[in-house]
Amino acid sequence: MKIYKAGVEREKVPDVETELEAINAYAKTEMTSEQIYTFSVVLCDNEVDRDFEKFSDEALGALSELFVGKTGIFDHEWKATNQTARIYRTEILKENGVLNSLGEPYAVLKGYAYMLRNEKNSELIEEIEAGIKKETSVGCSVAKRVCSICGEEAHVGGCGHIPGREYNGKLCYLELFDVKDAYEWSFVAVPAQRAAGVVKRFGASDSLKGFVSSKQGGRFFAEYEALEKDAVLGREYKNTLRNEVLRLGLLCDPKIYEALSENANFMGAKELENLKEAFEKRLEDSFPLKTQLPGRDKTVSFDGDEYMV
Ligand SMILES: [Zn+2]
Repeated sequence: MKIYKAGVEREKVPDVETELEAINAYAKTEMTSEQIYTFSVVLCDNEVDRDFEKFSDEALGALSELFVGKTGIFDHEWKATNQTARIYRTEILKENGVLNSLGEPYAVLKGYAYMLRNEKNSELIEEIEAGIKKETSVGCSVAKRVCSICGEEAHVGGCGHIPGREYNGKLCYLELFDVKDAYEWSFVAVPAQRAAGVVKRFGASDSLKGFVSSKQGGRFFAEYEALEKDAVLGREYKNTLRNEVLRLGLLCDPKIYEALSENANFMGAKELENLKEAFEKRLEDSFPLKTQLPGRDKTVSFDGDEYMV
């Protein structure tokens, strides 16, 4: 799956002279220190993010290799043209004693990037120098996500643990492994008064709805609205299905109903459909419908849907 993650900036600018060799490995023509500007960004870290996902150490290691040579985009909404920069070196930083929210050593993947010192980029360079708050976002492809509670790989109709929920005081999140590719990184300079110190994945707005309602995200509004309508239908279907499963469970055995009544809220549609089918089968076996005429001793099956209680 292709995922996007928000990162945070780091202010300190590395020394150009000592970085020239690494930069020239990726530059089309030999650069001098006067022609280029270097800066660093934090691409991602091993913190549990707002989607309750977290890069594993293995994934950070893979990303650190994949992002070298990748071009980043500066998205200046008040400008017609986008400028670009290229990452020429990465490193994973761990500081002694600094822990993430899970109590593990906090690790960040830092990228060093260069851009040309030209007229087009001069304003941007000034902004970076001035320390205006910046956001990064990375796009990459991850093949494996593992549940932190049971260790099972996430898939449709999987283990049933809900990311973001706590189980016996332990947070459920999905740990990301097996990075297939790193596609891009982008860098947005945000005027300090708008979102000072806050890293947001979708710019200034803090929710998807906020984003599609903003000037930046307005072109996605119609698509968002259509998806939301579908989501309402989906939720209605799931509610109906859940009630039906509980009703059938109660018919099978009141103990099943008791055990299910709370957990059914966390089940996916596929699990509920499977349960419904199993209950229907069991009811059919326990209470076969007798036909009156003409084959008195034969039983016929019936569909539970036709049988309202
Ligand atoms: Zn699980």
